[in-house]
Amino acid sequence: MNKTKIICTIGPATESREMLLELINKGMDVARINMSYASHDQARNIIYTIRELNRELGKNIGVLIDTKGPELSLKTLGGEEATLVQGDTIILTSKEDSEDINKFVVNHPGLIQDVKKGDKILLEDGLIELVVIDETIDDVICEVTTGGIIKNNMGINIPGVNLNIDFLSIADKNDIAFASSIDADYIALSFVRDANDVLDVNDVLIQLRNEHMQIISKIENKSAIEDLDNIIKVSDGIMVARGDLGVETSFEEVPYLQKKIVNASLAANKICIVATQMLASMEHNAKPTRAEVSDVANAVIEGVDAVTLSGETAIGKHPIEAVEIMEKIISNMELNLEYNRYMTSEDNFDQDDITTIIANSVASSANKLKAAAIVASSISGYTAKMISSFRPRCPIIVTTPNEQTARGLSLNYGTMTVVTPMFNSTDDIVNNGLREVKNLIPMEEGIVIITGSFPCEKHNTNFMKIEQIK
Ligand code: PEP
Repeated sequence: MNKTKIICTIGPATESREMLLELINKGMDVARINMSYASHDQARNIIYTIRELNRELGKNIGVLIDTKGPELSLKTLGGEEATLVQGDTIILTSKEDSEDINKFVVNHPGLIQDVKKGDKILLEDGLIELVVIDETIDDVICEVTTGGIIKNNMGINIPGVNLNIDFLSIADKNDIAFASSIDADYIALSFVRDANDVLDVNDVLIQLRNEHMQIISKIENKSAIEDLDNIIKVSDGIMVARGDLGVETSFEEVPYLQKKIVNASLAANKICIVATQMLASMEHNAKPTRAEVSDVANAVIEGVDAVTLSGETAIGKHPIEAVEIMEKIISNMELNLEYNRYMTSEDNFDQDDITTIIANSVASSANKLKAAAIVASSISGYTAKMISSFRPRCPIIVTTPNEQTARGLSLNYGTMTVVTPMFNSTDDIVNNGLREVKNLIPMEEGIVIITGSFPCEKHNTNFMKIEQIK
């Protein structure tokens, strides 16, 4: 079993029941639905199918809904596509009702106020580049500096410009309410700019009385990098969204920024995800490049909770092979890790929190004793998350009476979850734990460390027991 989790983006290539089942069998831990492309009906069908498969297979695959975010896009009026050649002049207009086929409509009425002469405007993930050369009352005149084909509804990036645009569009608010109504486990927020954007979403979740859905902030622009520590503090997890990050900064900065974001998230014990182009060539080819294999392995070495497949599984020709290969790269790398280096030093965690102290003892004892497994009985998931944050070498089997808790751990490093009845005594927890280990891990002998709380209450971890199976 992998400790580093795999997120698969679901799309036309994988939304059928057969393909979802195959993805789960090959190692998918979390299904990601990107609301830039999916309708509510499509998303609902995918989620219902995953929940059905969870019940049939005894799994707890999580669901992550990814918002569109305050993204600019461009409408072509003269047809579906247009070819731009270097040196061409093109006109962007913010007049939504423009019918001039020589202009391209941008969905931001304040565009003229926000950009100035000399600003760079990027299309198609930065492959097409424009520079602003003039402005009129409604239009921004640009020169094409790198050409290409532009398509209707293509995304636009204006790097380094703080657009005067609300973080939460009506569409995003609807998508968050939808995610809540279908009990999604995670909401990933696109184009977060600062901690206030995250707090605004938290307020929406409070209004929706949703205490369970975890917020993942996608770091994909300069302003988010500037407010990184505050964003991490108010989020449940962080995604290094390398696609837009490489456009909003520059591609050569991405490796350094990835390390910076990963280190800051892990130091704060928050979920950390690396995303985009991890096995990109597999959208077309049955085998990845050596550089892609190294990229996935490098994320495992960095100690992230999860890695992501995007176009590879959403629209690619080889989605099942992509998960299979990602799983192989992870399990091979995990065999060769020096786990003790991930153990947070005592100066870096809360010395007054009993759960954290027990979690640290559990993880470090497991490494010292070369335990076969840790079993954590967890009500809210907090004990399991704390143990996971110390990155022990062995799997963490989490028993919980709460299905939402089980699914809500699907991104946390090293966890396997089993939904059980509520326990009546410490002996009950220990005996059940030993049974689950034998079910899940082939072992004749070895050490198992069991932890939890009795009475079973959240944030009340109060014992740790070391069992030697002979
Ligand atoms: C990214 O930009 O890397 C990303 C994960 O976001 P999206 O797939 O929504 O573009």
